[in-house]
This record gives sequence, C-alpha cells and structure tokens, in this order.
Amino acid sequence: MALIVQKYGGTSVGDVDRIRNVANRVIKKYQAGNDLVVVLSAMAGVTDQLINLAHQVAESPDERELDVLLATGEQTTVSLLAMMFNSMGFPAVSFLGFQAELLTNEAHGRARIQEIHVDRIRKALDQKKIVTVAGFQGWTRSGNITTLGRGGSDTSAVALAAALKADSCEIYTDVDGVYTTDPTICSKARKLKKISYDEMLEMASLGAKVLQIRSVEFAKKFNVPIHVRSSFNEEEGTMVIREEKDMEKVLVSGIAYDKNQARITLTKVPDRPGIAAKIFTPMAQAGIEVDMIIQNTRAGGLTDLTFTVATPDYKKALDIQQNLADEIGAEGVYSDENIAKVSIIGVGMRSHAGVAAKMFSVLSKENINITMISTSEIKVSCVIEEKYTELAIRVLHDAFELDKA
Ligand code: ADP
Ligand code: ASP
Ligand code: MG
Repeated sequence: MALIVQKYGGTSVGDVDRIRNVANRVIKKYQAGNDLVVVLSAMAGVTDQLINLAHQVAESPDERELDVLLATGEQTTVSLLAMMFNSMGFPAVSFLGFQAELLTNEAHGRARIQEIHVDRIRKALDQKKIVTVAGFQGWTRSGNITTLGRGGSDTSAVALAAALKADSCEIYTDVDGVYTTDPTICSKARKLKKISYDEMLEMASLGAKVLQIRSVEFAKKFNVPIHVRSSFNEEEGTMVIREEKDMEKVLVSGIAYDKNQARITLTKVPDRPGIAAKIFTPMAQAGIEVDMIIQNTRAGGLTDLTFTVATPDYKKALDIQQNLADEIGAEGVYSDENIAKVSIIGVGMRSHAGVAAKMFSVLSKENINITMISTSEIKVSCVIEEKYTELAIRVLHDAFELDKA
C-alpha cells in the first residue's frame, strides 16, 4: 500500500467525460489498496476566461479579488470529482487551499508556499477517503486566498507530496512525458525516460511550460521524484530525478523556447558609475523582472545597454526607460517585441567544450541572426527574430541528434 499524490492538468479535466476518465484511473489505484490525494487544475481555458472577465470590469483588477475569482476554477473541478466518487460508491472529500492548510506568503498572483499542515488530509485518508485538493491556491495567515502563479497546480502537488512524504508524485498532462523539445512544434521531439532536476529547472525557466518552475524547485529541495505522464494512456512517462552519473554523457538533453520576450536598448548612455543602478532600480521598484542584460562600451565615454523583459511587462518597462532617457543623458530608446529566446540545455555541457560554438554555427548556416547570448554551466540561450523560432529548434534538434536515444 502506498500514498500516491496525483495531479491532473486542465486538459485532463476539460469536461465531464474527462473528469470521469480521471475518476476511473484514480479508482483503479484506490482499489489496489493505495491512499490517494488528487490535485486538480481548473478545466482547460477557465483560468483564462476568469482573467478576461476580471479585465472587463476593471483595467487593473485588485490583486486580492482576482485571486478570490481565480480560485473558483479549481473549486469547480475538485468538488465535481469528489461528487463523482461519492456517486460511484467511493468515499471522497474535496479540500480547497485553506482547508488543506496550504499556507503562503501574501504575494497575490505569485504566492509562495511556506507551510502545509496535513492533519486534515491525513485524517481523511485514515478514514479511507479519496482526497481531492484544489491546486494553484493557498491561504495566508491573515486569512486571504492566494494563487501560486500560472501553472501553479504542479507546485501544489509536489509540495503536498513532500509534506505528506508520499511514495510517489505523478503529474498527469496532455503529453506523455517531458520531451527533448515542445512536441507540439517539433515532430522529431523524443520523450525522455529521465531528466535531472537541474535540467528540468532550466527547461522550465527557459520556457517549457510542462512543469511550473517552482514545482521543480520543491522537488529538488525535498528530493521528490516526479513522474510526468499522460492521463490518456497507460505509458510510462518521464522521471524527473536527482542527477545520475550517466546523464553527463549526453551533450544536450533538451531545447526550450520563449516567445514571450521583448528587448529594450538605450543608446549612447554616459559610461560612468551609477548608470546601471539608475536604469534598473525603477524596474525593480515596478516589480519588473529583467532577464538578459548586455552592455557594449563605445568610444568617447559612451555605452549602449540592452536588456530583455517578459512581454506582459514590456509597455511598463518601455515607459520607465523613455521617461528616464533624458535624465541619464541617453541618445535614444529602441525596442523590439518580435524576438524569441531559444536555449539548449544539458548537464553534459559541464564536461564538454564547443557546445555553444556549435549552436552558433548551426544557426548561422540558416542565416538566423543572434542578437543576444547568455550562458550558464548547463545552458546556452540565444535571442533571435521570433519568426525563426521553429526553424531554429528544428535545425538544433537535428544537429545535436536529439531524436536519437
Ligand atoms: P497541464 O494543463 O496538464 O498543466 P500544460 O499545458 O501546462 O499542461 O503543459 C503541457 C504542455 O507543455 C504540452 O502540451 C506541451 O505543448 C508543452 N511543452 C513545452 N515544452 C515541452 C517539453 N519539452 N516536453 C513536453 N511538453 C512540453
Ligand atoms: N489553472 C491554473 C492555470 O491555468 C493553474 C494550473 O493549471 O496549474 O494557470
Ligand atoms: Mg501546467
């Protein structure tokens, strides 16, 4: 007998038939004698619809109220699933974030889980109930509903698995595992049997939305192996686990992309101490995260400074810099929304030279211009024109032979 935490994403609970499919899968494991905690997302598209509704009544909706609204998506699915179990003759109970005592900080819309008190869940499991838990939502000490950021149900599931010391944590989604790259845009993408936490962290932060970044951070911190698999078949998926020795043999394990990027350049800025602080402090104060930064020194004591931000922050960031340009003596502010970041990831890069150079030459053969580069121990990212994203992924996938195991 095992304690199993399962999470089903939006597509997997997209309508009543699909919720029934989830119920049948859960019951199979329950009847085999296991304890089950089932974390659910909202039905596919519902969170987007709710955000859209909020924007119809307010230009920038109050963050607290937005979380109250968004949490209803998951409230719907967990209650429906629990009802379904009950009507099929299996005892079940649903818990919202506050009932599961999933405590977060106060950061509405991007709250972080701080503590989980699992007594109530344990008690229900002791009573042989199947427990359904609303993903994506938490509860603050001051009594407010919070949400964990888009894709946050993954994090709810992994955090619950850690707090309950579950025997396994299974993330069911609409693909049957983690692929070498997004299978919806590259037909040669191959399912990985396993991937290390660090590689998955890079994949997630560089754009692969198959797992929310924080869920992988949790999994790494508490050593929770995650099994990513499909809710539509019985195939084994991908294990996200601690790094193993043989993983370094592979040069590149995956390719990620992010089209949600915009670039801003300030030209001919006086090159003196304090300028970077002047440029980036107001961005931090506005809660804007800056991704890549490049500074090029020119002759005559001048410099150009380029950085990227996520598209939703683009307008705000551009306003800030346009207002600042005169004050800091910049000649101009230029920007481009039609860019994408394409990244190759692999722990094997640590012990192999020449990976970045190969990436650059593969892109140059296709005449794809690279405008920014950033590297870390296990990844290389290039900013390119957005229209070349799919082409870049395809040629890199071929060049690094990612279709071959
Ligand atoms: P869920 O609603 O189940 O949480 P998501 O839409 O959040 O599902 O994540 C699954 C999607 O992630 C897939 O449909 C796929 O398009 C996308 N994806 C991006 N990169 C990858 C990858 N490397 N492997 C698998 N899926 C990926
Ligand atoms: N429903 C939320 C979202 O769409 C959370 C999730 O699906 O994980 O982002
Ligand atoms: Mg998701």
